[in-house]
Amino acid sequence: MAFFINNKEFKDQEEFIRYGRGCATKIPTPIDILRVDEEIKANQTRRQLFLDLTIEIRFHHITYGARGLITRTQRERQVELLNTAYSNVGLTFTYSEQEVKFIDNVNWYNMGHGSASERQAKTTLGADPHKYLNFYTGGLVAGLLGWATFPYDLAGDPDIDGVVMLDESLPGGSAEPYNLGMTAVHEVGHWLGLYHTFQGGCDGVGDHVQDTPAHSSANYGKPEEGKPHNACNINDFAPIHNYMNYVDDDWMNELTTAQETRIKEQIMMYRTGLLNSANV
Ligand SMILES: [Zn+2]
Repeated sequence: MAFFINNKEFKDQEEFIRYGRGCATKIPTPIDILRVDEEIKANQTRRQLFLDLTIEIRFHHITYGARGLITRTQRERQVELLNTAYSNVGLTFTYSEQEVKFIDNVNWYNMGHGSASERQAKTTLGADPHKYLNFYTGGLVAGLLGWATFPYDLAGDPDIDGVVMLDESLPGGSAEPYNLGMTAVHEVGHWLGLYHTFQGGCDGVGDHVQDTPAHSSANYGKPEEGKPHNACNINDFAPIHNYMNYVDDDWMNELTTAQETRIKEQIMMYRTGLLNSANV
């Protein structure tokens, strides 16, 4: 059955998933993966992980006339979802209505990942990326739901830091079954340093998180529970509820303990500007 998402037609939902579930976050290179592992490891002895931390979001809603006008209720529900997802990490996301910006610009509205429009919009609009989570919304290139930058890229390219979300993927949007706000939870996971659970497939060390079973490729839709699905090792179960998999929004509800630790390590290593409000 044909599957439509953000103005693009796919043969079926499986094809959309193979295309990347609309997540255009770049695939980390082996060199980046190694470098990050080494740097985290080298800092382990000097590191004390924070207990809790507040992260202020700056919303930049890029509009095209009447399109993309995100409401206050949508923002509040989105922030609530982030707080639920990352509460065990000790993270609290906040934002101020006074700081919410609406920008009418058709080129920026239709931005693609890595495009000149993206760089122009972010350079113009972004708040200090060391202190805030810049959260952009727009219509994006057809077929995309969003993307994020990784913590380890902040130092080298601060202007581009943040998450970009399809406006209709926020809670109450029209991008069914991806309209409950879980795209933002997933992209913020990347922004905090998580890879996809199926990163690397069955070769090597997968997503570099110990307690997420390796699986050969993304799961999608609403995979049945209590089944191994495409887990790489016998007796393992693919993490079908994990935020960093590609399942439907209403199927995502899990972050593992090792993912939570990885997030803390990544913040301590690459997003230290956020730590001013931290309790250690
Ligand atoms: Zn992703």
